[in-house]
Formats: sequence, C-alpha cells, structure tokens
Amino acid sequence: MPSCEEVRDERSSYIDGQASLLHRMMLRAHLAMCERCHRAERALRDTVDLLHALEDEPIEEQS
Ligand SMILES: [Zn+2]
Repeated sequence: MPSCEEVRDERSSYIDGQASLLHRMMLRAHLAMCERCHRAERALRDTVDLLHALEDEPIEEQS
C-alpha cells in the first residue's frame, strides 16, 4: 500500500492515465480508504479536467 506521500507524487500520472495498472490499483485502494487523499485527488482531477477542457491540443508525453 503506498503512503500518502507516494500517492501525492503519483497522482498526476495516475490522473493522466500514464501510471501502470498496478500503480493505479494501489492508488485507488489508498484513495478509497484515505479521506484526505481522496479529497485532494478529487480537487486535482477537477483542475485537470478544467485544463483539458480549455486545451484542444493533445497532452505531450513527458519522458
Ligand atoms: Zn492518504
């Protein structure tokens, strides 16, 4: 189970769909049990959705 700090670090890649399946499963399990991370993830997701809605250009892959 990832720690809150790891969840915070991985959240962006998780939301952008760049995290591995195993990573996403672990993050989702943590978010389901951790109210603090769950709320933070919701807020970040809303922000990302807003950014994506404002940008028509595809997101560049970051290596
Ligand atoms: Zn947490």
